Parts: sequence; structure tokens; C-alpha cells
Amino acid sequence: MPELPEVEVTAQALRPAIDGARLKGFRFSGKSLRHPFPKAALARLQGASVVAVGRRAKYVLIEFPIGWLAIHLGMSGSIDCRIGVETIAWGPHDHVGLSFEGTKGGSVMLVYHDPRRFGSFQWIEKAGLGAADIADRLGPGACGMEPLDPAFTGRWLFDASRGRKVAIKQWLMDGRTVVGVGNIYACEALFDAGIHPRRAARAVSLKRYEQLAPAIQRILNQAIAQGGSTIQDFHGPDGQAGRYGQSHRVYGREGQPCPRCARPIRRIVQGQRSTFFCHGCQR
Ligand SMILES: [Zn+2]
Repeated sequence: MPELPEVEVTAQALRPAIDGARLKGFRFSGKSLRHPFPKAALARLQGASVVAVGRRAKYVLIEFPIGWLAIHLGMSGSIDCRIGVETIAWGPHDHVGLSFEGTKGGSVMLVYHDPRRFGSFQWIEKAGLGAADIADRLGPGACGMEPLDPAFTGRWLFDASRGRKVAIKQWLMDGRTVVGVGNIYACEALFDAGIHPRRAARAVSLKRYEQLAPAIQRILNQAIAQGGSTIQDFHGPDGQAGRYGQSHRVYGREGQPCPRCARPIRRIVQGQRSTFFCHGCQR
């Protein structure tokens, strides 16, 4: 499932291809995605140029003068970016095509591919809204702190977790707290900081949170640098599979020796998601 690093990698890859590019047209498969496809908005956008390409939570944001196109990759979405291509062979799981005239005059095609169709395209009209208002429009899962923001610190986590009885792992994965810390990254960061995934968020000390915040940032940045995770369907817009999967220390390693203490890694289920951890190293 695409998580924050995959979305950031996608935004970074799209930026040089479509920043400043002019939208020439679009194509939609007509099959339902998670939200109704904003056909009317895209029709109005023809001829408009991209102002910026960014990310908020797990949304790629393509900014136009009059609003933002927010793309969520859902469970299995990916965006292929083809430069110098006018037409493509349209596959059964290709749902949206956006064609642009690049700033140097050549064609750029973005093709949104999503076998499970949990992804979405949403239009947010500017109409006086600023970038800070986007999260509200996208919903509660996009409203938490950005983990790569300099304001995301151990102290911030400690303060935000006071009074929270919920297990630390589920609290971290709640987009109302922090956005985009998915299952893999939560498991890996809790291992790094030596925190048991079932410990109540309010019972984690400031010292542990001061290890956890930089661990989350380091793991996310490492995954971004390596092109995202290899888990399941994700591949970056350049067609290269991510390589982060090779460096998981606990995720997906049930029964294998802990890299620190050699006890077998355990798997439990929390909120219907598998949690991998070491009961020796994580307290
Ligand atoms: Zn261990």
C-alpha cells in the first residue's frame, strides 16, 4: 500500500515533468474510484498551467491557478509519467490519463493505474482558500502533524499523547495525530525507539518520544531516498520498484531473529493490522 514515502517520491518525480506544464486534456475510464471523479473541474482546467506539485499527508497535490487536484493512491494506485508520448495503450486498470504540454513544448502523459480502485481524484477550488486549508477539505485523516515538518519533535509527541490511553502504534497511525505514518513505518520506528507497540501512548516517556520522533523521520527519509517501499503493488513514476523493503528490521519478519538480540520477531494484530516487534527489545 502506498504510504507517505511513496507519495512523496511520486510528487518529487512529477514535479520536474509537469511543473509549469499546460493541461491539454484528460481521459477517465468511467469506473468508480473512492470519490466521484471531478470531470467538470478538469474540463474547466484545459489550457491551465500547473503552478506547483506538492504533497499533503498521503495526497499528491497538483496546484492550478484556480485550485488543487488532490490525488490519493489508495491501496494499489500508482502514476506513470511518460515524457514525449502522445498516446498510450490503455490498460484495464488505467483509470485516468492527463496529457500536458511541457514547458519545453514536448508532451507529458500521466497515467493513473489502480487495480483495486480505492484511490481518488478530488478537486479543491481555491476560492479564497490557502494551502493550510487543504487538509480540512481532504478530511480528518489529512489533518495531523506532518512527520517531516521541523515542528514534529519528541516533545510535540509527548505533549500530544498526554491522556491518550490508546496503544502507541494505533495512535501513531491515526492521521488525526500524525499523517502518513503507515503500518511498516510505525513498526520499524517503534523497534528503533525500543517502545512496545501495545504500550498506552500516555505511558511513553518523553525520553522515548525523543528517540521515536527522529526514528520516524530517519526511516521515512531513508524510504524516500530509496524510492519508497517494495510492498505489494507500488512502483514509482519512473517504473522502478522501491528498495526500502530490503531494509525492514522487524516488518514481515515473524519468527526470524531480532537484529539486536536474536530473539524471534513476534507478530500480533492491532486494529486489524499486523504488528511486528521484538518482545526483548521493546518495552
Ligand atoms: Zn530484540
